[in-house]
Amino acid sequence: AVIANAVSKYFGSLQVLKNVSFTVQPGEVVALLGPSGAGKSTMLRCINHLEKIDGGQVSVHGELIGYQRQGDRLMEMSDKRISEQRTTVGMVFQSFNLFRHMTVLENIITAPMMVHKREKAEAIAQAHALLQKVGLPDKASFYPSQLSGGQQQRVAIARALAMEPEVLLLDEPTSALDPELSHEVIGTIKTLADEGRTMLITTHEMAIARGFSDRVIFMVDGEVAEDVPAKQFFESPQHERSRQFLAQME
Ligand code: ATP
Ligand code: MG
Repeated sequence: AVIANAVSKYFGSLQVLKNVSFTVQPGEVVALLGPSGAGKSTMLRCINHLEKIDGGQVSVHGELIGYQRQGDRLMEMSDKRISEQRTTVGMVFQSFNLFRHMTVLENIITAPMMVHKREKAEAIAQAHALLQKVGLPDKASFYPSQLSGGQQQRVAIARALAMEPEVLLLDEPTSALDPELSHEVIGTIKTLADEGRTMLITTHEMAIARGFSDRVIFMVDGEVAEDVPAKQFFESPQHERSRQFLAQME
């Protein structure tokens, strides 16, 4: 499970996360929704310790992220431990973030070989299996610039999966894509959902949020305003802000 417990985060004097608490259970697909500036991306980045938190705790699979207990105090981990920990949390960004100078195959095998010390042949076999899964079996030797946006995003998903993360965080995975390219990426994410992958996804895409998310966490102004089964959120939103948000999402 991913557990956020009373997480707070400041940028200067601006508090962008205010005691945010939630749990994502293993196998659950959770849509993290909310208006622009609500703190969704920041929350995802905190789960991966790409941002340091100022209060509360985040744990993934029972392990505290970024800190270790020493007696009753929390000490920040070494950079080395943090980067090891990061591998338990896969992250996919809006802008794909592939390594431009590497082929698709190299993009996928680099981290497993460097971090997990996987044999090259084994990493390559795994990469081919993942490319098959994301529907790109014949693109291994292409460079990112030779792929469509939707194809690049599916490579980014394959690359994240290659680290065998406990949980996949996806930040607006389709919002840089044209509708028809989004469709392919949504299909890939749906496949992962059907496999029982644990995912936390920020999205404006109804096909994801309403289509196959189990639960919705709706954030406003750095706070969790609703945390309910997806069906309930879409059929009977409790907050005025949720209703406004839904009206503009349709
Ligand atoms: P969107 O839907 O537009 O992606 P969001 O919910 O993901 O919005 P965040 O990107 O988490 O929102 O931003 C939350 C708040 O934190 C905003 O007010 C933003 O300006 C601020 N913020 C985010 N990153 C930084 C940063 N690196 N430095 C200063 N302020 C930041
Ligand atoms: Mg964002």
